[in-house]
Amino acid sequence: MLTSLKPFIKEMAFQKKAIPGFNIFGYEDARSVIDAAEAIGAPAILMTNKDCIEHVPLDSLVGLLKPMAIKAKVPVCIHLDHAKSEDLAIEAIEAGYTSVMFDGSALSFKENVERTARIVDYAKRFNVSVEGEIGSVAYADRNPETAMIYTDPDEACRFAKESGVDLMAISIGTLHRMQTREASIQYDRLEAIQAKTQIPLVIHGSTGITDNDLMRLITYRIVKFNIGTALRMAFGKALREEVLANPEEYDRLKLFKKPMEAVRHEALAKYKRLGW
Ligand SMILES: [Zn+2]
Repeated sequence: MLTSLKPFIKEMAFQKKAIPGFNIFGYEDARSVIDAAEAIGAPAILMTNKDCIEHVPLDSLVGLLKPMAIKAKVPVCIHLDHAKSEDLAIEAIEAGYTSVMFDGSALSFKENVERTARIVDYAKRFNVSVEGEIGSVAYADRNPETAMIYTDPDEACRFAKESGVDLMAISIGTLHRMQTREASIQYDRLEAIQAKTQIPLVIHGSTGITDNDLMRLITYRIVKFNIGTALRMAFGKALREEVLANPEEYDRLKLFKKPMEAVRHEALAKYKRLGW
């Protein structure tokens, strides 16, 4: 069933569980994530990032993912991750995405609020959920232009009210693209943010969070944990093993079988850590 995030995130914010938002790059990992979600009866969030939409056009992605979502036995959301321009967010909404993130984290507070609010207003006509970001989560591997700015609790409160977003990404110690699990979570900051706003929260860069921290964080009002690197590592590692183990094999459909299984397995493990 195709859905935005609106029907369940408010309720979920007060439950001890959260949904992993998985970055997917094509049919194989999308199929594996939906299979994992169906196996435990959880909603799925299929996220496409900048790299993905540069590789496959937005409308082709919607054409691929929408029928998969409609046929799924669980709610499936098609989410655009980190749109840095209003035009891109609008293009995704019009193409059929059911959720978009507008990332105004590099803008001034005022600009971020104003632009995010315009997206929220536009998205309402399509019943599309909108995620904003306050503070900024840096990258472990590249993107030196993306600064690490921890979320200020007062700004978070004002941003939530003035932008009208459905959910809000915050920066409390994670890093994008971490391959090791050593993020140092600032629980004091998270508690200060929660004390000032009831808005459902999102954590980016969740591959770097330990299982213990994931299990602790779901007791807060975090509804979505963005996870990309963990699934990419699972797929890439299994694919490498398959290619090396079968030097004569040239059929990618055969070579993709074990990587898809590895992604499904990793996705299931993340769901379990997030309370499912
Ligand atoms: Zn992110």
